[in-house]
Amino acid sequence: MRLYTHPACLGHDNGPGHPESPARLAAVLRALDHDRYAALDRVEAPRAGREQLLRVHDDAHVDRILTAIPVGEVQRLDEDTVLSPGSAEAALRAAGAAVAAVDAVLGGGHVRRAFCAVRPPGHHATRERAMGFCLFNNVAVAAAHALAAHGLKRVAIADFDVHHGNGTQDIFWREPHVLFASSHQMPLYPGSGGPDERGAGNILNRPLSAGDGPHLFRELWEGDLLPQLHAFKPQLVLVSAGFDAHQRDPLADLCLGSEDYAWITAKLVELADRHADGRLVSTLEGGYDLAALAASAAAHVEAMLD
Ligand SMILES: [Zn+2]
Repeated sequence: MRLYTHPACLGHDNGPGHPESPARLAAVLRALDHDRYAALDRVEAPRAGREQLLRVHDDAHVDRILTAIPVGEVQRLDEDTVLSPGSAEAALRAAGAAVAAVDAVLGGGHVRRAFCAVRPPGHHATRERAMGFCLFNNVAVAAAHALAAHGLKRVAIADFDVHHGNGTQDIFWREPHVLFASSHQMPLYPGSGGPDERGAGNILNRPLSAGDGPHLFRELWEGDLLPQLHAFKPQLVLVSAGFDAHQRDPLADLCLGSEDYAWITAKLVELADRHADGRLVSTLEGGYDLAALAASAAAHVEAMLD
C-alpha cells in the first residue's frame, strides 16, 4: 500500500487560529510514523498537471489558485478560505497525489491501495470556485483522471466527511460514470446534501442529525449506501476521508470514534476487493481535533493495510 504526501502541503497557511492548519497534516504523519506502518510504501506526491485540473475546474479558477501570492501577504477567497504564498504548490501536490495514486493502482503492478495524506482538502471546491478550506477538488480530479486517462466506466466516490461534499456533487452532477455516496451532518456547512439532490441518479446523499452516533452511521452505510455501491460494481473506489464526524471534533456534532472509521474503511476495502480488483484510493479531507484526527486517520490506514 502506498502513502502519498509532500512537505509542500504543510506550506499552505490559512492564518493563526484557523482550524485547517498545517498541524493537522503533521499530526497525521506523526501517527503514521510507527513500526506498525512499516509496510507503507512512502512516495512524494508529484504536482497535478494543468490539463488534469481542467477536467473538473474552469480556466479562471485554476488561474486564480495558481496566481503567485507575495511572501507575507494572503488573499481571502471567502470567509474561511485563504491563499497564502505556499498555497499554490500545496494545492498542486494535493491534487497530484490523488492522480498519482490512481495511476499506481490502475498501473497493473502490485499497488492496490493508497492513502493521500495531503492538504488543502478538496471536496467543497466546485468547478468554478474555492470554498470551505478547499482549493482544488482532489478526489474529483482523481475520478476524472480515472475516466479520461484509464478509460474506466464506473468510479465510486464514498465521502464520510461530516460536511457535504458539495463540490464533488457539483462537478459530477450529470456524470453517470461516477457514483457519489455521502453521509454528512445536516443542517451544517455548506447547507446542501439533501436526499432529493440526486443528479442523474448518481448522487446519493444521506444526511445525519446532530447528536447521531455510531449506530445510525453504520446502519446508514450498511443498509443503504453500501448495497447501492455494490450494485454499481465500481472499477475503482475513491474515498473522501474526512474525520470530522468524530465526537471530539470542534466543527460538528456527530459522535463517531476512531473504531467507526476502521469499520467503514474495512467495508470500502471489501467493496473494492469484490468489484475493483482491490483498487482503492483515499484522500484526506477534514478533521479538526488533532488527537482525534491522528487516531482516526491511523485507524483508517491500518484497515487499508492487509
Ligand atoms: Zn468536513
